[in-house]
Amino acid sequence: MKFKKSEKLYNKGLKHLVGAVNSPVRAFSSVGGNPLFIKKAKGSKITDVDGNEYVDLVLSYGPMVLGHRHKAVEKAAKKALKKGYSFGASTEAEIRLAKIVCDAFPEMDKVRFVNSGTEAVLSAVRLARAFTGKDKIIKFSGCYHGHQDSLLVAAGSGLATLSLPGSKGVPEGAVKNTLIAEYNNLESVKKHFEKHDDIAGVIIEPICGNMGVVIPQNDFLIKLKKYLETKGALLIADEVMTGFRSKFGGAQELLGVTADITCLGKVIGGGFPVGAYGARNEIMQEVAPLGGMYQAGTLSGNPIAMAGGISTLTELKRQNPYEQFNETAHILEVILLETAKKYSVDLVVNRFGSMMNPFFTKDVVTNFEEAQSSDTKKFAVFFWEMIKNGVFLPPSQFEAWFLSSAITDKDIKKVAEAVDKAMLAVSQMKD
Ligand SMILES: *Cc1c(COP(=O)(O)O)cnc(C)c1O
Repeated sequence: MKFKKSEKLYNKGLKHLVGAVNSPVRAFSSVGGNPLFIKKAKGSKITDVDGNEYVDLVLSYGPMVLGHRHKAVEKAAKKALKKGYSFGASTEAEIRLAKIVCDAFPEMDKVRFVNSGTEAVLSAVRLARAFTGKDKIIKFSGCYHGHQDSLLVAAGSGLATLSLPGSKGVPEGAVKNTLIAEYNNLESVKKHFEKHDDIAGVIIEPICGNMGVVIPQNDFLIKLKKYLETKGALLIADEVMTGFRSKFGGAQELLGVTADITCLGKVIGGGFPVGAYGARNEIMQEVAPLGGMYQAGTLSGNPIAMAGGISTLTELKRQNPYEQFNETAHILEVILLETAKKYSVDLVVNRFGSMMNPFFTKDVVTNFEEAQSSDTKKFAVFFWEMIKNGVFLPPSQFEAWFLSSAITDKDIKKVAEAVDKAMLAVSQMKD
């Protein structure tokens, strides 16, 4: 397999783009080598500029739940395109997507569309503060909520727990109202409430996908919500990744909780830039123009993006692929675990619905610290063997793999063969 053209573009890209990428997750920093440049994608496959074809388990980090260029989505987007790209005024499509989204989330009366997950979350946090009149927000280490200042902490390392900024350029003042707790540890949440009486809410990925897939244990979310109710604090579910991925609607419902505010993105745009946040009327009343919480957007509710969202969700509802997602993820889990066993490689697989990933570690992974015990060098070797054998994975141990409804039995067979070669390569690594 050759990567000559990707390499050439990478070197060219370095001149006017930062690291030749527009999002650092696309850089291959943790696996080595240069990022691949993509020419096109269709269905379950993605093709790089050198003509190498891969089974795509990145799926744009989640949005492409129907696979690439689904007919219905492409048709809807093209149709919208012909009517104009942006008006700075309301369209019927926004009302239609809002209805589909609100119908799928029991406690969501109203929704506001924005342009990215980051924007959705930063607005949701502002809304929680506006509604409660309190300033502090608790987040969990290892959860990612976009790149706004106040939540860019605990993206990693021990510093995280000290509420130190996780990025240069984030002033301490911006994170002084952010408190860090440990995923799956209610006591770590309670501790903050014992010390502070100005906590507006807790933000959480109901299924975490941003430290690799980590699942709430022992009704963690249910207990968390119950506790927050006694404290008058809000639960903000960041479902930017999980929304419409494990069921038609939110993962929170599958886990038996209803959040006060829900953030969405990724799937609800079907590959076009969309984010959203929603809640019951009482809370959404705070948002301008109804209330005093300001939040705006020139391109918010963009007609092409709305068409992408409506067609994606309509098709998802029709296909109802969720049962199939579970089965496929289970098959892949068995393949990964059995192959790891065959070559005596320590491996843990976490999965939920159409999100999954292996961790190169011995013990269960239920929080960020446990995820960090993974052997990233093994992942790097595994990653490149998978690439060379035609499977496109996120270039990090700590990213989820995604399934689409376009994946075929043949694709799974190809993945299985690649896993065999990759696991063999891992087992042959020298310390
Ligand atoms: C991707 C993601 C975001 C950020 O969304 P962007 O569209 O990249 O800004 C926020 N929260 C979660 C849980 C995500 O997975």
